Amino acid sequence: MTDILEKVKAKDPGEKEFHQAVQEVISSVQPVLERNPHYRQAAVLERITEPERIIMFRVPWMDDQGQVHVNRGFRVEMNSAIGPYKGGLRFHPSVNLSILKFLAFEQVFKNALTTLPMGGGKGGSDFDPKGKSDNEVMRFCQSFMTELFRHIGPNTDVPAGDIGVGTREIGYLFGMYKKLANEFTGVLTGKGLGWGGSLIRPEATGYGCVYFAAEMLKAKHDRIEGKTCLVSGAGNVAQHTVEKILDMGGKVITLSDSSGYIYDEEGLDREKLAFVKELKNIKRGRIREYHEKYPRSVYTDADPSLGYNPLWNHKADCAFPCATENEINERDAQNLVNNGVRLVAEGANMPLTLEAIQVFLENNILYAPGKAANAGGVAVSGLEMAQNSMRLNWPKEEVDSRLRIIMKSIHQSCLDAAERYGRPGNYLVGANIAGFVKVVNAMLDQGIV
Ligand code: NDP
Repeated sequence: MTDILEKVKAKDPGEKEFHQAVQEVISSVQPVLERNPHYRQAAVLERITEPERIIMFRVPWMDDQGQVHVNRGFRVEMNSAIGPYKGGLRFHPSVNLSILKFLAFEQVFKNALTTLPMGGGKGGSDFDPKGKSDNEVMRFCQSFMTELFRHIGPNTDVPAGDIGVGTREIGYLFGMYKKLANEFTGVLTGKGLGWGGSLIRPEATGYGCVYFAAEMLKAKHDRIEGKTCLVSGAGNVAQHTVEKILDMGGKVITLSDSSGYIYDEEGLDREKLAFVKELKNIKRGRIREYHEKYPRSVYTDADPSLGYNPLWNHKADCAFPCATENEINERDAQNLVNNGVRLVAEGANMPLTLEAIQVFLENNILYAPGKAANAGGVAVSGLEMAQNSMRLNWPKEEVDSRLRIIMKSIHQSCLDAAERYGRPGNYLVGANIAGFVKVVNAMLDQGIV
């Protein structure tokens, strides 16, 4: 097993995020490989860690002053054993091949857990939409799609949003795809409601994450009601995580963006959440403005030199990291444990370092890995694809109820797989094994391709 990890590292030495994701999965699936020697002979680990295809391309675009810029575009088509590639596009200056390979790798297992027929992929660009005008974002999206369109399709590869890619960007990308391919089809998910989008898609990742956490608590005869929660991020996933925690009677006392975080001892309510939604989705402002509006809250600037994030150092019952990868390190994890946190559910992808995960497992914290807890977004993307194929729209209640059923079923699959392999209650091992077995069996059925 370690030799596979060494080979992966030797092949692409700079890809530390990808190595981290691979290490997490292969350390969980070791017992599966021991019980199934034919997996080794079929080199399933070697095959599953190698993307089926990677597309990299130049994205030139012109700003409002007439200056030309060049960004790099990517699509990592990781695995199509159980369906067309499916996974978001991320526009953020930190985007590189390592980050997209880790996200695509995670996506393979996540999509398998949803029970829907979707393979795994991820893409994006090092373009930063922050501070750009709508016209600049549109020109960038059009240029990006001018290359991407030839590689995607409703039965081939169906991208969606991620960090920096919301309904506005999906709209511009879809418009260009439609023009180039001369067809109106479900080639992207996260579309606007009036042109093929699904109700509940924007809410799905955050809602699903809280549904999953509620299932974990229910298994311990407990509930979200009355729990104090720390949430990081202030984007799509964070906003809807807060909304569902409020629906279920919990209290949320933090939010953040890359500049800093707010602590609101009184807790967010519907009005404050509506303010955050408008601030982030329409005005595209900074979370510091929350403190200007609600001065009894406290705003603290981000300070990476501290070596820990003070957001994770408040008394609470539950933590929902919903911003970005590796946002909770070992010290943050220890702070959370010391502050009485009993449940950590990942809204973001890989927000915990391997050392932080270890701290939670050693302290018997209920820990939900992102590939299970944040699968609600891609699950409703799958439902959007189904609605597009049938050319109809399900009502909100139907999509929400399907989302709940899917999250419940993912929760159960994780528990069952963990139990089957002698690690009862370990959601990380359970999620990795359940996703892995489904994909690998499909790969074996389809031969060496
Ligand atoms: P958004 O772009 O809507 O929001 C991201 C938020 O995280 C912003 O508040 C952003 O702040 C903050 N953030 C980004 N980078 C950092 C950083 N380095 N430090 C602190 N804060 C940061 O993205 P989403 O809400 O869609 O995505 C959040 C996470 O959830 C990502 O890990 C994504 O992969 C994951 N995810 C998203 C899904 C979806 O359906 N959207 C599905 C499954 C997982 P700022 O504005 O300052 O950049």
